[in-house]
Amino acid sequence: SIPLGYFGGVGGAAKRGILVKGATFLDTLTDVKTVVFDKTGTLTKGVFQVTKIAPYNGFSEPELLTLAAKIEANSNHPVAQSIRKAYGKPLDSTEVTDYEEILGHGIRARVNNKVVIAGNDRLLHRENIPHDNCNVAGTVVHLAVDNCYAGYLLIADELKEDASDAIIKLRRAGVERTMMLTGDNQTVAQNIANQLGLDGYQAELLPEDKVDAVEKLLRQSGKKSKVAFIGDGINDAPVIAIADVGMAMGGLGSDAAIETADIVLMTDAPSKVAEAIQIARKTRSIVI
Ligand code: ADP
Ligand code: MG
Repeated sequence: SIPLGYFGGVGGAAKRGILVKGATFLDTLTDVKTVVFDKTGTLTKGVFQVTKIAPYNGFSEPELLTLAAKIEANSNHPVAQSIRKAYGKPLDSTEVTDYEEILGHGIRARVNNKVVIAGNDRLLHRENIPHDNCNVAGTVVHLAVDNCYAGYLLIADELKEDASDAIIKLRRAGVERTMMLTGDNQTVAQNIANQLGLDGYQAELLPEDKVDAVEKLLRQSGKKSKVAFIGDGINDAPVIAIADVGMAMGGLGSDAAIETADIVLMTDAPSKVAEAIQIARKTRSIVI
């Protein structure tokens, strides 16, 4: 049974914007040795700027951006929001038909009856569209129209202000391993891992690959060595569900993730993970 004092800890955490959905999770938190972060929207702001428009095969820059904005008109993905913002004009969503959002890849749809795709390298491979610019450093959205490569948009996200602090504080709180899982490409992931001094990362993951990665960590961990996962909830509710402690960002996060999570961080600050662990430890030292 859970010592009564833990309920006081739950209240104290809530006052600091950390909603713990049961005293038992506070107990589990004290044994967390591995913390796994999602990237986009969790360690980074999830607000991308379009930094380059690179048209191919006769497209112009405005044409490429317009095409991208049109196909992204109905997507909730952070990538889509940034492209619409760069376009800056109202969009007529009736121009888009046969809309299909492919998890971890991008979008396939008809725009004014032409088949358009927008997404990453993996999507281009899947659709058999050859392209020769694989060495772009950054998050890339490729576009193709009726099987012809049309070019790419380079988009850049920023680390959250407290991301670096979050990792330092976790180490101070006795966490032995910090990791990042992302659907974004290797270059982007490696850059962030280096900047933050993470112990490891895995890139180019599909949502189900993230589940596999966390399951593997869970198998490797002992009874007193728990695994926490923290995500913004875009595509990562399943991972939040299987971690020993699943955490969701409450502001940006999707409803599904907030419902699934054991702990919700109201301020979307990754440094709150270490704070939660410290509150849990302090509570245990009082109750036991
Ligand atoms: P993350 O793991 O970084 O949170 P996701 O799993 O949501 O990322 O997406 C992985 C990748 O799939 C993105 O980095 C992007 O390349 C591509 N992608 C997903 N949705 C879209 C979209 N609507 N438009 C373009 N690309 C997309
Ligand atoms: Mg995400």
